[in-house]
Amino acid sequence: MSPKGSLGSRIFLSRASSCAAATSPAGGCPFCGGRGGRWGVASRTVHDLGDPLSGRPIDLHICYSTHRCLACRRSFPADQSDLAPLKSQYTHRVQQTAVRLVIEDDMPYRMASWHLWRDHRVFVPWATIQNWVEAAGEKKPGRR
Ligand SMILES: [Zn+2]
Repeated sequence: MSPKGSLGSRIFLSRASSCAAATSPAGGCPFCGGRGGRWGVASRTVHDLGDPLSGRPIDLHICYSTHRCLACRRSFPADQSDLAPLKSQYTHRVQQTAVRLVIEDDMPYRMASWHLWRDHRVFVPWATIQNWVEAAGEKKPGRR
Protein backbone atom coordinates (compact mmCIF):
# COMPACT_ATOMS: atom_id res chain seq x y z
CA MET A 1 0.00 0.00 0.00
CA SER A 2 1.67 3.15 -1.10
CA PRO A 3 -0.18 6.40 -1.62
CA LYS A 4 0.94 6.97 -5.16
CA GLY A 5 -0.15 10.17 -6.75
CA SER A 6 0.02 12.09 -3.52
CA LEU A 7 3.33 13.68 -4.38
CA GLY A 8 2.64 16.72 -6.45
CA SER A 9 5.42 16.67 -8.96
CA ARG A 10 6.24 18.33 -12.20
CA ILE A 11 7.81 16.32 -14.93
CA PHE A 12 10.10 18.03 -17.34
CA LEU A 13 10.74 16.69 -20.77
CA SER A 14 13.63 17.72 -22.84
CA ARG A 15 16.12 16.40 -25.26
CA ALA A 16 18.88 18.06 -23.35
CA SER A 17 20.90 16.10 -20.89
CA SER A 18 20.56 18.63 -18.14
CA CYS A 19 18.01 18.19 -15.40
CA ALA A 20 18.94 21.37 -13.61
CA ALA A 21 15.55 22.91 -14.27
CA ALA A 22 13.60 20.08 -12.71
CA THR A 23 11.89 21.07 -9.56
CA SER A 24 8.88 19.76 -7.82
CA PRO A 25 7.11 20.79 -4.67
CA ALA A 26 7.80 18.70 -1.61
CA GLY A 27 5.12 16.10 -1.23
CA GLY A 28 4.14 13.61 1.38
CA CYS A 29 6.44 10.76 2.34
CA PRO A 30 5.20 7.45 0.90
CA PHE A 31 6.42 5.63 4.00
CA CYS A 32 5.17 7.67 6.92
CA GLY A 33 3.25 10.53 5.35
CA GLY A 34 5.71 13.04 6.73
CA ARG A 35 6.96 16.06 4.95
CA GLY A 36 9.46 15.49 2.19
CA GLY A 37 12.34 17.83 1.73
CA ARG A 38 14.03 18.45 -1.56
CA TRP A 39 16.94 16.11 -2.01
CA GLY A 40 18.12 16.06 -5.56
CA VAL A 41 17.30 15.53 -9.17
CA ALA A 42 17.27 12.33 -11.12
CA SER A 43 16.46 11.41 -14.65
CA ARG A 44 15.73 8.50 -16.86
CA THR A 45 15.35 7.95 -20.54
CA VAL A 46 12.43 6.09 -22.06
CA HIS A 47 11.74 5.09 -25.62
CA ASP A 48 8.60 6.44 -27.21
CA LEU A 49 6.92 5.62 -30.48
CA GLY A 50 8.98 7.17 -33.22
CA ASP A 51 7.89 9.84 -35.61
CA PRO A 52 6.21 8.04 -38.53
CA LEU A 53 6.89 10.93 -40.90
CA SER A 54 10.59 11.32 -40.37
CA GLY A 55 11.05 7.70 -39.39
CA ARG A 56 13.19 8.75 -36.50
CA PRO A 57 13.21 7.13 -33.10
CA ILE A 58 12.13 9.30 -30.20
CA ASP A 59 13.59 9.06 -26.76
CA LEU A 60 12.11 11.01 -23.91
CA HIS A 61 14.27 12.33 -21.16
CA ILE A 62 12.26 12.46 -17.97
CA CYS A 63 13.56 14.57 -15.14
CA TYR A 64 12.16 14.32 -11.67
CA SER A 65 13.20 15.41 -8.27
CA THR A 66 13.94 13.15 -5.39
CA HIS A 67 13.03 13.95 -1.83
CA ARG A 68 14.06 12.98 1.61
CA CYS A 69 11.55 12.70 4.38
CA LEU A 70 12.25 14.99 7.29
CA ALA A 71 10.56 12.61 9.70
CA CYS A 72 11.84 9.12 8.85
CA ARG A 73 14.80 10.22 6.73
CA ARG A 74 14.04 7.86 3.89
CA SER A 75 14.51 9.19 0.41
CA PHE A 76 12.02 8.66 -2.35
CA PRO A 77 11.68 9.74 -5.96
CA ALA A 78 8.88 12.03 -7.01
CA ASP A 79 8.74 10.27 -10.34
CA GLN A 80 5.04 10.33 -11.00
CA SER A 81 5.34 10.31 -14.72
CA ASP A 82 2.15 9.56 -16.58
CA LEU A 83 4.24 8.87 -19.65
CA ALA A 84 5.97 5.71 -18.65
CA PRO A 85 5.58 3.07 -15.97
CA LEU A 86 8.14 3.21 -13.20
CA LYS A 87 11.32 1.34 -14.06
CA SER A 88 10.12 0.79 -17.61
CA GLN A 89 12.32 1.76 -20.53
CA TYR A 90 9.27 2.41 -22.68
CA THR A 91 6.32 4.77 -22.58
CA HIS A 92 2.76 3.65 -22.01
CA ARG A 93 2.10 4.34 -25.68
CA VAL A 94 4.73 1.84 -26.78
CA GLN A 95 3.45 -0.72 -24.33
CA GLN A 96 -0.17 -0.27 -25.33
CA THR A 97 0.65 -0.43 -29.02
CA ALA A 98 2.63 -3.63 -28.57
CA VAL A 99 -0.08 -5.29 -26.51
CA ARG A 100 -2.71 -4.25 -29.02
CA LEU A 101 -0.74 -5.75 -31.91
CA VAL A 102 -0.62 -9.10 -30.16
CA ILE A 103 -4.12 -9.16 -28.72
CA GLU A 104 -6.20 -7.38 -31.33
CA ASP A 105 -4.21 -8.15 -34.44
CA ASP A 106 -3.30 -11.61 -33.21
CA MET A 107 0.34 -11.09 -34.05
CA PRO A 108 3.06 -13.38 -32.78
CA TYR A 109 5.43 -11.66 -30.36
CA ARG A 110 8.34 -11.67 -32.78
CA MET A 111 6.26 -10.13 -35.51
CA ALA A 112 4.92 -7.46 -33.16
CA SER A 113 8.50 -6.60 -32.25
CA TRP A 114 9.42 -6.31 -35.89
CA HIS A 115 6.30 -4.30 -36.65
CA LEU A 116 7.12 -1.80 -33.89
CA TRP A 117 10.53 -1.28 -35.37
CA ARG A 118 9.29 -1.02 -38.94
CA ASP A 119 6.39 1.34 -38.29
CA HIS A 120 7.38 3.15 -35.13
CA ARG A 121 11.16 2.99 -34.98
CA VAL A 122 11.20 1.64 -31.50
CA PHE A 123 12.98 -1.59 -30.75
CA VAL A 124 11.30 -3.77 -28.16
CA PRO A 125 12.61 -7.29 -27.60
CA TRP A 126 9.82 -9.77 -28.19
CA ALA A 127 10.29 -11.24 -24.71
CA THR A 128 9.47 -7.82 -23.29
CA ILE A 129 6.29 -7.72 -25.34
CA GLN A 130 5.41 -11.15 -24.02
CA ASN A 131 5.80 -9.85 -20.46
CA TRP A 132 3.52 -6.92 -21.20
CA VAL A 133 0.85 -9.09 -22.76
CA GLU A 134 0.95 -11.52 -19.89
CA ALA A 135 0.81 -8.64 -17.43
CA ALA A 136 -2.17 -7.26 -19.28
CA GLY A 137 -3.76 -10.64 -18.79
CA GLU A 138 -5.79 -10.32 -21.92
CA LYS A 139 -4.18 -12.92 -24.10
CA LYS A 140 -7.07 -15.30 -24.36
CA PRO A 141 -6.33 -18.86 -25.28
CA GLY A 142 -7.99 -19.71 -28.54
CA ARG A 143 -10.55 -17.48 -30.18
CA ARG A 144 -12.74 -14.91 -28.58
ZN1 LIG B 1 8.84 9.47 6.10
